Amino acid sequence: MRGMVDILPEDSCHWQRLETQARGVLRQYGFQEIRLPLIEATQLFSRSIGEVTDIVEKEMYTFADRNGESLALRPEGTAGCVRAVVQHNLLQTPQKLWYLGPMFRYERPQKGRQRQFHQLGVEGFGIATPDLDAELILVSRALWRALEVDSLLTLEVNSIGSPASRAEYREALVAFLSDKKAALDEDSQRRLTSNPLRILDSKNPDTQALLAGAPSMGAYLDDEAKSDFDRLLSTLDAIGQPYRVNERLVRGLDYYNKTVFEWTTTALGAQGTVCGGGRYDGLVGQFGGRDTPAAGFAIGLERLVLLMKSQSEASMSPTDIYVVTADAAAQRHALPRIEALRRALPDTAIQMHLGGGSFKSQFKRADRSGARFALVYGESELAANSVTLKPLRGEGEQMTLPDAQIEIFLAGKLAEDKGE
Ligand code: ATP
Ligand code: MG
Repeated sequence: MRGMVDILPEDSCHWQRLETQARGVLRQYGFQEIRLPLIEATQLFSRSIGEVTDIVEKEMYTFADRNGESLALRPEGTAGCVRAVVQHNLLQTPQKLWYLGPMFRYERPQKGRQRQFHQLGVEGFGIATPDLDAELILVSRALWRALEVDSLLTLEVNSIGSPASRAEYREALVAFLSDKKAALDEDSQRRLTSNPLRILDSKNPDTQALLAGAPSMGAYLDDEAKSDFDRLLSTLDAIGQPYRVNERLVRGLDYYNKTVFEWTTTALGAQGTVCGGGRYDGLVGQFGGRDTPAAGFAIGLERLVLLMKSQSEASMSPTDIYVVTADAAAQRHALPRIEALRRALPDTAIQMHLGGGSFKSQFKRADRSGARFALVYGESELAANSVTLKPLRGEGEQMTLPDAQIEIFLAGKLAEDKGE
């Protein structure tokens, strides 16, 4: 199906590495996981994301269930997360949460843009001060570093102010664009009345050229948004994180206010935004909760995996050790020994050859498995309670060891390989 993608074993190792690193980094910064349903009431999204956004106008997968209620496959995670924290009364104290999973948007599929895609979402509730915004940027940066893609990503920041200052700016922008309306692209003409700020992030170069003399958002900011933004920028300076202030950065969803940010890359063509987020202080109140300041971001994981693969295409070998046996009796002899070895070396992937066959055909499989060593149980090994260790890659001589020594010997060899 268009835009629906299978993640095959050669790629799932990159996904697993990403997920493991993300869990570790988020734990380190004190974020906790929340798991949310894939389906929500359609109006949850139309109310929060905004009726006149790309997502709600044309990208949602909606359907009527058997009771005629309109449901949607979630196009993003923030709305569901806010629903959950309000519903379960979690906002008595600040909360720092994350979730990871598939999202659904009906878009034109291309590299880095799918109809089912995955996001890692990170949200902080109950903290009004810009130290939260700074921490969100820090935790995302820590993930780029852990995945060794930090050199490919640039931080862009902006402040879109309070709802009131945004309304003022909106008026000025509409006034500026009104007499240029005929020259705008079709989408932007429509947005001029429905959602004019979105024109600022139009991908159309002609529209961008028209915007050259547009009024500056910075000049319209209210004092609080401005001082919060300045405080964020000085924190970024203090931690040595370079950034670009991009006054055109508005984000596509209606619920944002004050500071917004994106991490972008030039390595993925048109799909340059890997992570986007910002403050959404009004959303919890809008969902019927007590007014609670909040901020968060979402990472597009397909795009992040593409960056990881551009840095190191090598996929991890699914096998470290491949076990070869002379016949069914030798396999029976080997199995309890291999089970003991698996318990002793829990991080090592040990594949027992299954399905029988000659030594020759088994060694062929062992080679193709990517394993570093073969363990061989032949007739002489059985008789002597020993095993032969045959290196399949890298240096080293074949050798036969007593059963009792294999565990310690292998642990040492594998650690050496990992450079420990
Ligand atoms: P874009 O401008 O690329 O459409 P967006 O503003 O719609 O992005 P958000 O809703 O902010 O995106 O989602 C956060 C991130 O999720 C994006 O920066 C991107 O990395 C990723 N993302 C969004 N839509 C898709 C998609 N259809 N396929 C893959 N990744 C996506
Ligand atoms: Mg989009």
